[in-house]
Amino acid sequence: MKKFQEYIRRVEPYTPGEQPQASNLIKLNTNENPYPPSPKAVEALKEMDMDRLRLYPDPQATVLTSALADYYGVDKEQVFVGVGSDDVLGMAFLTFFNSDLPILFPDITYSFYDVWANLYRIPFACPALDENFRINPEDYKRPNGGVVITNPNAPTGICEPLSFIEKILSYNEDSLVIVDEAYIDFGGESALSLVNRYDNLLVVQTFSKSRSMAGMRIGFAIGNKELIRAMNDVKFSYNSYTMNQTSLAVGKASILDNAYFEECCRKIIHTREHTKEELEKLGFSCTDSATNFLFATHRDIPAETIFEALKAKNIFVRYFKKPRIDNYLRITIGTDEEMEVLLRELKQIIVHK
Ligand code: PMP
Repeated sequence: MKKFQEYIRRVEPYTPGEQPQASNLIKLNTNENPYPPSPKAVEALKEMDMDRLRLYPDPQATVLTSALADYYGVDKEQVFVGVGSDDVLGMAFLTFFNSDLPILFPDITYSFYDVWANLYRIPFACPALDENFRINPEDYKRPNGGVVITNPNAPTGICEPLSFIEKILSYNEDSLVIVDEAYIDFGGESALSLVNRYDNLLVVQTFSKSRSMAGMRIGFAIGNKELIRAMNDVKFSYNSYTMNQTSLAVGKASILDNAYFEECCRKIIHTREHTKEELEKLGFSCTDSATNFLFATHRDIPAETIFEALKAKNIFVRYFKKPRIDNYLRITIGTDEEMEVLLRELKQIIVHK
């Protein structure tokens, strides 16, 4: 092996869900929103002055951080924006997890955390969820280099109350606690209300799910000013211009259209609860989801078999071939029509097995 080959940083990358390119399929595998972005966001895109593309975007992303600050009732110095919450989380790992002690996150959670930890050489430990896929807060009561909690958790969909987050914070006064709230708008209670009381809390959210903008790539973190300043220092040491002109304008327009946002979330919650009831009639059991997906297992038929059978019918759901969850499917909530097709095909699959 040549020296340069020896020096290559070898990493085991994150595997995103499939993005099949065919058009005649039902895509319920990456927790995208089935409804379009706000019409106001679409309008903002149409009205963009293309001449401005000559210029670099505002490195402070002021229009978007200000809109978010106003919406959530914090100072704009408390808001950090990035290219999807993956960018924000990756930046937070790089900024805050710089200790010899392991950072802690559950064994079953968003599968990007261990990838960043490995990339940045951050030691980590993963306390196991209990048999009902719940996080035991006592597992987070030990010396650590930081804590990451996804709430609601993914792929289980289970949401813990604010009192749980406060308990984690009270056990970790000396550690930075990241709460990843990618799915919070579908029924959970956000920890944003705690950021002014805990200087070690960073809440991360995204426009990808509840704001129907996975393709735009916008995520954000809100926390104490000192935390946001530290993240900006790291960002400006890496790439000052993460947010392009378009995402700044469209992101702001989306935030201003609250009525549309609330209506989309309401529809998805309604479809989720109806789909859950119908799945249970077919012999599935589902966790209590506060997200835009259901985590479902069938009493007779292995999840992998159902996954393959659905795929053969051009219906994509997510299957994780991992210990403890390899008999579950994660099914994103689509439109009512899409869920009807899913249920009809599932009925067929179940009858024929
Ligand atoms: N956190 C969780 C828990 C997620 O499921 C996802 C979506 N894959 C993300 C963060 C990242 O989403 P995005 O980068 O699109 O904001």
